[in-house]
Amino acid sequence: VLVLIAVCALLAAVLVGYLMAGKAIVPLKNAYEQQRQFAADASHELRTPLSIVLSAIEILEEEPEIKTPFVFEILNDMKDEVLKMTNLVGGLLVLVRSEQPGQKIIKETFNLTLAVEQILRKIQPLAKKKEIHIDFINKPIVEVHAESGKIKQLLLILLDNAIKYTPDQGRVEVKLQKNLETNTVKIFVADTGVGIDAANLQQIFERFYRVDKVRSRVCGGSGLGLSIAREIVNIHNGTIHVDSTIGKGSTFIVELPEF
Ligand code: ADP
Repeated sequence: VLVLIAVCALLAAVLVGYLMAGKAIVPLKNAYEQQRQFAADASHELRTPLSIVLSAIEILEEEPEIKTPFVFEILNDMKDEVLKMTNLVGGLLVLVRSEQPGQKIIKETFNLTLAVEQILRKIQPLAKKKEIHIDFINKPIVEVHAESGKIKQLLLILLDNAIKYTPDQGRVEVKLQKNLETNTVKIFVADTGVGIDAANLQQIFERFYRVDKVRSRVCGGSGLGLSIAREIVNIHNGTIHVDSTIGKGSTFIVELPEF
């Protein structure tokens, strides 16, 4: 009888403990959800003023009266910063939404080659500043079924990093490769940059992880780019990995299902 009482007391204690722990977690879960919602709302609200500032800069750029080289240069710098912030805010939205259960992606069929060309045009001024030559080799016609805005965001992150972490006069190469057997497409973004050592290769996809904090800060990095890139790839059921040699360069390889 004593053993039975002891077992029952133990079971009751475990049950009470379990219920109390469950209850204790509820406020924590609510607080976390509130934080997530705040980040989502704040990122969303920041998009409109940023796009208004961007349009204003673009209007000023076309204004013949103030088009002196000095003003033009300042406007260009402002535009670069606004674009960086727009991408960061867009990226934050991807991250906070990815934690939302049942989040949807809006897929459409689009030409990946044209999307790459569009992003290359966008990134060209950054490459020009560092005299980095970008080549887009191997351009098969690739129609993918994906969320085009997110895929462009992914391309922008990889190309921006390739330029950021490559010394002046380096080279960046973009390549698309279709695999008819698996019905997938691979996107290669290769650079002749600083490279990443093997010990850091996995961590670079973690949020806020930066191999060289000083260099990253100088280059304007936030440590979020690759975690956003990985999230975009994951929600498309793709894969991302990197081959790299210190001092020689890195190649990021994304594989996406085509349809
Ligand atoms: P950041 O904003 O710091 O660039 P990312 O998440 O995009 O953040 O990248 C994480 C880290 O991975 C970077 O700080 C950098 O150390 C490294 N990294 C990313 N891309 C490259 C690259 N192409 N060449 C060398 N290092 C890179």
